[in-house]
Amino acid sequence: MSEASLRRDIVKWGRSLFERGLTAGSSGNISVKLDDGFLVTPTNSCLGFLEPERLSKLDAAGSLISGDPPTKELPLHFAFYEVRPTAKAVVHLHSTHATALSCLADVDQEDAIPPITPYVVMRVGKVPVVPYTRPGAPDVAPLIRAKAGEHPAILLGNHGPVVAGISLDAAVFAMEELEETARLVLLTRGMKVRLLSPEAIADLNATFRLK
Ligand code: ZN
Repeated sequence: MSEASLRRDIVKWGRSLFERGLTAGSSGNISVKLDDGFLVTPTNSCLGFLEPERLSKLDAAGSLISGDPPTKELPLHFAFYEVRPTAKAVVHLHSTHATALSCLADVDQEDAIPPITPYVVMRVGKVPVVPYTRPGAPDVAPLIRAKAGEHPAILLGNHGPVVAGISLDAAVFAMEELEETARLVLLTRGMKVRLLSPEAIADLNATFRLK
């Protein structure tokens, strides 16, 4: 895919996520890996009103080549790319339900989203929670690197979800699935929930291999 069409895709998905209330104000950021570097949403930009030519273009070492200064949350994006060679895009939002889950003290920190429907199993598998760090601080990087090789989706504690994908479309779809499933988990919290069986999960993993 050409850089121009990737720029248009970032703008398109940013607007779509914003208009559906999945990210508010200047929160949330998107990155895409290029052959020779990265395209990243600028710092303090609203995902609803991005401009293709103002996206931050970084070289492979992460230095700004053109466009506005990049999001301050770059460390979490780079940590995903470092340990997931197949990742071509990373999406981070403060979407309401996944963020709510990231704040709960009693969710399983290794597996925050119980397997209640097939879709989250197919798209993101187990979703761990990493401890809170200040947004943009580099100390998030080792926490992400420790989990992201095994897990394409992670909840940042008391902050929000991050998802990597083999394309921007895949990362956005997985993020949407994560947010919707987090909503179902919260809606059914305290109710008697029937989880997918280990056999059903093994069948999904064998049929829809996560990359
Ligand atoms: Zn954030």
